Amino acid sequence: MTSTKRPLKPQTQLVHAGTLRSGFGETSEAMFLTQGYVYASAEAAEARFKGEEPGFIYSRYANPTVDMFEKRMCALEGAEDARATASGMAAVTAAILCSLNAGDHIVAARALFGSCRWVVETLAPRYGIETTLVDGTELANWEQAVRPNTKIFFLESPTNPTLEVIDIAAVAKIAHAAGARLIVDNVFATPLQQKPMELGADIVVYSATKHIDGQGRCLGGVILSDKEWIDEHLHDYFRHTGPSLSPFNAWTLLKGLETLPVRVRQQTESAARIADYLADHPKIGRVIYPGRADHPQADIIKRQMSGGSTLICFDLKAGKNAAFAFENALDIVLISNNLGDSKTLITHPATTTHKNLTDEARDELGIDPGTLRLSVGLEDIDDLLADIDAALATVS
Ligand SMILES: *Cc1c(COP(=O)(O)O)cnc(C)c1O
Repeated sequence: MTSTKRPLKPQTQLVHAGTLRSGFGETSEAMFLTQGYVYASAEAAEARFKGEEPGFIYSRYANPTVDMFEKRMCALEGAEDARATASGMAAVTAAILCSLNAGDHIVAARALFGSCRWVVETLAPRYGIETTLVDGTELANWEQAVRPNTKIFFLESPTNPTLEVIDIAAVAKIAHAAGARLIVDNVFATPLQQKPMELGADIVVYSATKHIDGQGRCLGGVILSDKEWIDEHLHDYFRHTGPSLSPFNAWTLLKGLETLPVRVRQQTESAARIADYLADHPKIGRVIYPGRADHPQADIIKRQMSGGSTLICFDLKAGKNAAFAFENALDIVLISNNLGDSKTLITHPATTTHKNLTDEARDELGIDPGTLRLSVGLEDIDDLLADIDAALATVS
């Protein structure tokens, strides 16, 4: 929604933007659970197929509830256009593959969500696309990896699970000088704490499964970019291959967007308290938290992020057995590989999300046997601290 009077703040956009009210004047967004649409006449059907008359044709192409979700995401991100997908991975895969042809080259940061890494490292090469993985925190690596056929730079920041931060503005400059587009997976930062497009990214992707739903209910994703790129590169792919988001999930995600700022603010505040507590605990080694002054890229965080994070990465000094004992002793905090949820979740990356990597690749990413990733939820902070404290007390 654009106000005729003044630009609206994100929190207002998240409650109102994109709303398409039916003739009934419903307060809440309507869920249009329909596959197709009917036409008043054969002539009207012809006009709609010719694109001479606006309207919906088939829900693989577009659907009013999905449309509301896309428009609300555009308002939040400051993007011209968006396409919603059935999952975050459908968004990442479409954004990457639709940007490339056989013979092209991708440069990607090696610290990627596991499935993203599979797409660039294993899937893309099957179609004649080459990939170079780099340590994305060193800018010189991006420059050195560029080839004449480089078309895409791809990164995630902060990264999973060690919350490394990459200088998006600097990488965007290198990409553009090389004639390549930068795709940023902005899941960990959320659309509220980091604005990749303002920093120069050309395409932003989300798993809406994480903070945008934030209540553990449904999968979803979204790709945001300028209208020209979406028309040229995504439009036909979406119509003909069907990665579309279901209207039911779009409706759930719309309701999630309404409370996103409140949840992310609260979860970040609690995460900051827990990170400080962990950093002072004798059984804990490294604590990586983007809101702390001792984060390795604290200076970049100050420039490019407006908040800390809802996630914390830390090591149990005594290694894997201690990490497992700690997880098992937790009562409120649940063992789960998901993140961004209203429930606080803990995961042991080396044996779950990152188990498919070689020992060497895990070392490169800083994933140790004692490393844990905590996604902080909406429970009372005193209960969370008491649960963590009691569980740590049982670890020898
Ligand atoms: C979860 C996640 C994805 C994949 O999203 P799905 O909705 O699970 O398909 C991609 N990137 C990051 C950083 C994620 O955390």
